[in-house]
Amino acid sequence: LAQLFRPLDLLGMVYRTIRQGAIDMASMFDLIDTRAEVVDTPGAPPLAITRGAVRFEGVRFGYDPDRAILKGLDLDIPAGSTVAVVGASGAGKSTLARLLYRFYDVDAGRITIDGQDIRAVTQGSLRAAIGIVPQDTVLFNDTIGYNIAYGREGAGDTDVRRAAESAAIAGFIERQPEGYATRVGERGLKLSGGEKQRVAIARTLLKNPPVLILDEATSALDSRTEADILDTLEAVERGRTTIVIAHRLSTVVGADRIVVLDDGRVAESGTHAELLRRGGLYAAMWNRQAAERARGDEAVAAE
Ligand code: ATP
Repeated sequence: LAQLFRPLDLLGMVYRTIRQGAIDMASMFDLIDTRAEVVDTPGAPPLAITRGAVRFEGVRFGYDPDRAILKGLDLDIPAGSTVAVVGASGAGKSTLARLLYRFYDVDAGRITIDGQDIRAVTQGSLRAAIGIVPQDTVLFNDTIGYNIAYGREGAGDTDVRRAAESAAIAGFIERQPEGYATRVGERGLKLSGGEKQRVAIARTLLKNPPVLILDEATSALDSRTEADILDTLEAVERGRTTIVIAHRLSTVVGADRIVVLDDGRVAESGTHAELLRRGGLYAAMWNRQAAERARGDEAVAAE
């Protein structure tokens, strides 16, 4: 009987490993993978992080061979800086993040971290170096403490509390009847979009990655919560190379650099002020969203 169960144990372990890896990405990456899986090159060394500089060099990529999404993308993200990527829906913003995490390999060009082609290092070491705060965090049907501790294997209670404090969710957790042992999920505590995002931030703080991808929440947060979260995120970004996938321009104003994707390439790049002065795509997007916001405010005022 034991013989019969051993393969099942193994399957269970493989399943858990895959699930754990997959769950981080679940919402952001919405994967329908029709391409060959990426594999480690035999004998590939681990990624050696020195500063965390990220570069996309002439990157071409399409999910289908006959439909290119990125058509020669060049992007230089200096170590420790924050770059916000904006562009029309479908422009390829999330694709860029998927490629950096090496869910897919590029068709041409290359992506490097500290000068190392990400295809030449182990996937495990690459993914350990990158933290992701997704739009919509997936929580386990377990305690809130477990949900935070999941960011780093072997994290102790003190680490979890410290991360929760930095993510500004410790007060909320301590007010729950069972504190960190409070269960979340269907029959437990229901968290709001903002609270879930703080759990994701706490997890990421525990992981402490040199490279960070923030997939900015779209409409889930009210503007007050959004402003609070942005303050918290600023603390997380400090000292890390950060890519913000931005859906709303109001949140990218402070980025070191804003990059506008259009037709598979970087169409414009600069600070908020520079891009407004340029009067191009970004300025047009900004004016359109500002008009929408003003209409929204009028609608609220009329209620
Ligand atoms: P949004 O702002 O709406 O999130 P985005 O700029 O992040 O958009 P991507 O998600 O990168 O856009 O998608 C770029 C293009 O690739 C879209 O046309 C999309 O339909 C297509 N695409 C995305 N994922 C896949 C996939 N797994 N298989 C095939 N096509 C895909």
